[in-house]
Amino acid sequence: MEAMSGIEESLVELRQTFKSGKTRDLSWRKAQLRAIIELIHDNEEKIFGVLRQDLGKHSTEAYRDEVGVVERSANNALNCVEKWMAPKKNNLPLLFFPAKGGVIPEPFGTVLIISSWNFPFSLSMDPLIGAISAGNTVVLKPSELAPACSSFLAHIIPLYLDPKAIKVLEGGSEVAEQLLQQKWDKIFFTGSARVGRIVMTAAAKHLTPVTLEHGGKCPAILDKLSAPWEKKVAVKRIVGAKWGLCNGQACIGVDYVVVEHEIAHSVIELMKKMIKEIFGESPKDSNCLSRIINKSHFERLRNLIKDPRVAASIVHGGSMDEEKLIIEPTILLDPPLDSKMMNEEIFGPFLPIIRLQNIQESIEFINSKSKPLAIYAFTKDEAFKKQILSETSSGSVAFNDVVVQFLCEALPFGGVGQSGMGRYHGKYSFDTFSHEKAVMHGRFFPEIEPRYPPWNNFKLVFIRLAYMSQYFKLLLLLLGLKK
Ligand code: NAD
Repeated sequence: MEAMSGIEESLVELRQTFKSGKTRDLSWRKAQLRAIIELIHDNEEKIFGVLRQDLGKHSTEAYRDEVGVVERSANNALNCVEKWMAPKKNNLPLLFFPAKGGVIPEPFGTVLIISSWNFPFSLSMDPLIGAISAGNTVVLKPSELAPACSSFLAHIIPLYLDPKAIKVLEGGSEVAEQLLQQKWDKIFFTGSARVGRIVMTAAAKHLTPVTLEHGGKCPAILDKLSAPWEKKVAVKRIVGAKWGLCNGQACIGVDYVVVEHEIAHSVIELMKKMIKEIFGESPKDSNCLSRIINKSHFERLRNLIKDPRVAASIVHGGSMDEEKLIIEPTILLDPPLDSKMMNEEIFGPFLPIIRLQNIQESIEFINSKSKPLAIYAFTKDEAFKKQILSETSSGSVAFNDVVVQFLCEALPFGGVGQSGMGRYHGKYSFDTFSHEKAVMHGRFFPEIEPRYPPWNNFKLVFIRLAYMSQYFKLLLLLLGLKK
């Protein structure tokens, strides 16, 4: 009950702040964005520290995927926010002459951001940048599964950002559920589809718009590549994106790889070589491999390979250190298609390789599952690329690379179907937290009588002609209303 009153008090204050209008000012938005950049500059080592504590992330990985990403995003928003928030003029069809019209982006109001644990800094701060740029007041609830990062954010954000407009409320599902009982003007959620459904159900009560960032089974299609060096680059990128990205605990990481029968063994051999090259002889002892977030996820992953048919498909790795919560890079060849491994998002260091007779069959294979957050395809076959684009659906597609599309603020990031709804990053973040208000400036003259009853045939013909723009121009000319 106490937590409830805390939440309500926070909301009252946030609503008052929004009502005061100060968050709409360009100067306020810019000051908050500058403060985020300052927060990062002053506390970079501390951020590395909490990410190491929660996930054993190496600082370079932490900079690449979290600190640097947020810094770039804040700098980009700082440079662009004035342009983003400016009213846009639209060219209206002649039918509406002489009115003028356009669109004004307006903040939703008070928004809720619920984030996940695998990129606990960036998945909290990046949506926050969007919400601030758009002029909203915000409650951020970080994930309780990354407690060091969550308490760091709760402590540091009020020291840098306007505490009357931006609040961090910590807690687990109970707190999140209490938050969801409140009326928000927008909810931005990153996490599982299971909880996404809970969020959407709660939002429906108040008709609150939602953005849901989920995950899914992201496939990598690996076509036969004629040049050996290209094959090497492709495999290295897959290895890097699987195990070098939070050790497989990434929504856009590679979930499984699809190859043709004849190249599967050479791909696996190359993968083993790359794992050694990147993570050393004993990857478990490498400081470049993030650990599994907690015991319960470790157990979830262990259960995936408990199925003896799945265990029998392991062709590399498989060893686990329960104490250190480390699972080494593990490759599986054709695990049963009805296993959990092939039907749930793995979200960990297991990489199934699925063999098909013909690489074109990968399209049907992917389409037999829910729409993924991303599809990766290493191929130089332009017709196959077109086929992938036109015959599959996913949040994004990257050809001949993995995950980099996530880092590119010029592209929208988000899912489709089970993998989510809505998008963000760069200008898309601003749009996600804004309502585009249509505005029309009418004139008192001319007054077009045929728009009013009483109806007659002349008025019908007039309206019919008016709706066909070429005739409408003629009409205006005849009436002397336009030169
Ligand atoms: P989760 O759904 O368990 O938790 C996410 C957030 O929801 C946490 O803050 C948690 O406290 C909160 N939550 C938990 N139970 C809740 C409830 N009953 N009501 C309201 N809120 C509740 O997900 P997770 O374990 O943090 O993350 C893993 C999932 O998130 C994976 O499916 C992954 O693919 C996805 N993910 C997606 C993205 C993306 O950007 N698309 C990024 C990271 C993770």
